[in-house]
Amino acid sequence: MTDLPQNYRGRFAPSPTGPLHFGSLIAAVGSYLDARCSGGEWLVRIEDIDPPREKRGAAYDILKSLEVHGMHWSGDVLYQSTRSSAYEEALERLDVLKAAYPCTCSRRDISQNQPDGSERLVYPGTCREEPLRRNAPAALRVLTTDTPITFNDRIQGEVTVALESEDGDFVVRRKDGLFAYQLAVVIDDEAQGITDVVRGVDLLDSTPRQIHLQNLLGLRPLRYAHLPIAVDRDGHKLSKQTRAAPLNRRHAAISVVRALRFLGQQPPDELQHAGLEDVWQWALEHWDINRVTGSQHPASVFGGAQ
Ligand code: GLU
Ligand code: ZN
Repeated sequence: MTDLPQNYRGRFAPSPTGPLHFGSLIAAVGSYLDARCSGGEWLVRIEDIDPPREKRGAAYDILKSLEVHGMHWSGDVLYQSTRSSAYEEALERLDVLKAAYPCTCSRRDISQNQPDGSERLVYPGTCREEPLRRNAPAALRVLTTDTPITFNDRIQGEVTVALESEDGDFVVRRKDGLFAYQLAVVIDDEAQGITDVVRGVDLLDSTPRQIHLQNLLGLRPLRYAHLPIAVDRDGHKLSKQTRAAPLNRRHAAISVVRALRFLGQQPPDELQHAGLEDVWQWALEHWDINRVTGSQHPASVFGGAQ
């Protein structure tokens, strides 16, 4: 692949809300192979900025699972829980730029004030001039515009979004004081020198917001590849919330083969019975991101369902 940056740095950034399952393995395998096959580094970041959603021991469990599945990261794992001062600093910069403002709207306030025909919840700008309620807990929202944000996803193709009408101003610090994912991810991708983001297509919608923040804060642009996600029989994303089964560590090699198939690679049948080392050797020699297609596939077809 000739168009990859020379000093490729990729990452896998799980939230520690439960053990690694087939759905998250796909993102790990895809980001790992894309980094390694371009002579790059692969970093791991634990996105532990939302304590109410976290499970004790999950971070350790995920890291152990990555090792057992043969994926080794460069450098130290970065924990977002240690990064508050960097996020505070970014919020101060947004404040200086007059790009953020307090918002006291409830979910209900927002849903009752929607433009006609919008599919997802758009923040209607209610608190732009002044907060709807005085002396109420406030989130911090970043101002958006309709200047189109465009990026060329290596798998999903070109995406263009008019943020203000399609999402509205979005939250960078929540009402409960926690930093929002959109803010933390942008600051840490920059801090870790990431060049390439390879992750599930469920985050495709978030990418324009992240690019908007990068633009405001003067950060480097990244390249993106959004992988298809695994869904269950009802078409729901396999996730910790839908209680996807944890991966069986005794079957690590076969799980990686299944993830490769899910990602459109064509490992030979014999690889089903091969050891982990042989599986990775094949994968590193044959990875081709051009074979990765689509936005969702049923996990069961690839033997990845519980
Ligand atoms: N922590 C996010 C998740 O587990 C992923 C963040 C990212 O890859 O940008 O869904
Ligand atoms: Zn508001």
